[in-house]
Amino acid sequence: MKANFNIMNLVRENVKALSPYRSARDEFEGEASISLDANENPFDHKNLNRYPDPYQRKLKQKISELKGVKESSIFLGNGSDEAIDLLIRAFCEPLEDSILIFTPTYGMYQISADINAVETVEIPLTNDFQIDVESASKIDAKVTFICSPNNPTGNDMDTQIVESILRTSKGLVIIDEAYIDFSKRKSWTERLEEFPNLVVLQTFSKAYGMASIRLGMAFANEEIVSILNKIKPPYNVNGLTQNYALQALENKEAVLSEIDTILQERQGMKMALLKLKEVRKIYPSEANFLLIEIDRAKVLYQHLAEKGIVVRDRSSQVEHALRITIGTPKENKTLIENIKAFYA
Ligand SMILES: *Cc1c(COP(=O)(O)O)cnc(C)c1O
Repeated sequence: MKANFNIMNLVRENVKALSPYRSARDEFEGEASISLDANENPFDHKNLNRYPDPYQRKLKQKISELKGVKESSIFLGNGSDEAIDLLIRAFCEPLEDSILIFTPTYGMYQISADINAVETVEIPLTNDFQIDVESASKIDAKVTFICSPNNPTGNDMDTQIVESILRTSKGLVIIDEAYIDFSKRKSWTERLEEFPNLVVLQTFSKAYGMASIRLGMAFANEEIVSILNKIKPPYNVNGLTQNYALQALENKEAVLSEIDTILQERQGMKMALLKLKEVRKIYPSEANFLLIEIDRAKVLYQHLAEKGIVVRDRSSQVEHALRITIGTPKENKTLIENIKAFYA
C-alpha cells in the first residue's frame, strides 16, 4: 500500500471545481413508464430513440464478472484512446505538467498530450526494450504511461521495474494492457487495491475482435473513476455499442479459441521468418504481432503494399523494423510466400 497518497492533490483545480453537466438520464434513474424528460422522439425505433445509460451499468456488471474488478472501479470509454485523453485532461495542467513515456511506444500518449498542451518527457527503452528505472526515477511526471505488452516492440515490461515505478512515482501510473489477452502474465488489475495511483487500460479492439464498436476500459480506484466520469461527454459509449458488447461477451469461448489460433499462428510465422536469411531479428512477442528487423525493410514494405498486403513500417522507431499483425492462417501463408518471392 502506498502511504500518504491523495489523488485529489493531483487533479486539476478547474476539474475539482467543475459541476458536471447533468443529463436527463442523471436526474432520473430507474424504470419510467412514460419518459418525457429528454426531448426524445417518443415513437419506438428499436429503442434507439432513447438516450443510452451514461454509466453503462449493465455492461459494467458483465465486465465486472469477466475481469474480476468491482463495478465502481470500471470506467468505459469510446475506445481506450478516450481514456488516455481524459486522464491527461483531468490531471495535467496545460503548459505546466508533463507526462512520461518510454519509447518506442504507442503514439497516442504523446498526441493526446500535444492536443492538451501538456509536455511529453521521453525516456528511450533499453536495448532489450525494458524501462531504465534509474532515468525514470529522476523525472517527476504527473502521469506516467507504461505500455505492457508494448506496442510496437511486443514485450511485457519487467514486473519488478513496473512495481518500483508504482511505488516511487508521485503521480498516476497508467499501465496500458491493450494486448494482455495474448500475454502469459497476469493483469495488473489484480493489484489495484495495493496502488491507489494505478490505472489499468484494456480494450475490446484487439483480442475481442470489436475494434469497430469503440469500447475501451480503464480500471482504477473509485476516486479516479469518479473524476473520469465527471469530465467525460455524457453519452460517450453509445447504445449500439453497449448492446453489442453485452451480447458478444456471452460468447467468451469463441474469443478464447481465436486467441489460441492467433498464438499458434504467431509461433508458425516466427518459425517461417526464422528460415529467411534476410530476417536479422525477431523480437520476443507477448502480443498479436511480431516486430522484425529485415533487410531492405522499406522496399519490402512497398512491395507488399503493391500486392495488397499491408504491414506496418516501424523503421522510423526501430531501424529496419516492420510490425506484422498475425492474421488468419491463410493470410499469414500468403504473406510469407510474398516475402520469399520478394527476396528470390
Ligand atoms: C490499439 C491500442 C490502443 C487503442 O485501443 P482502442 O480501445 O481501440 O482505442 C491502446 N493502446 C495500445 C497500446 C494499442 O496498441
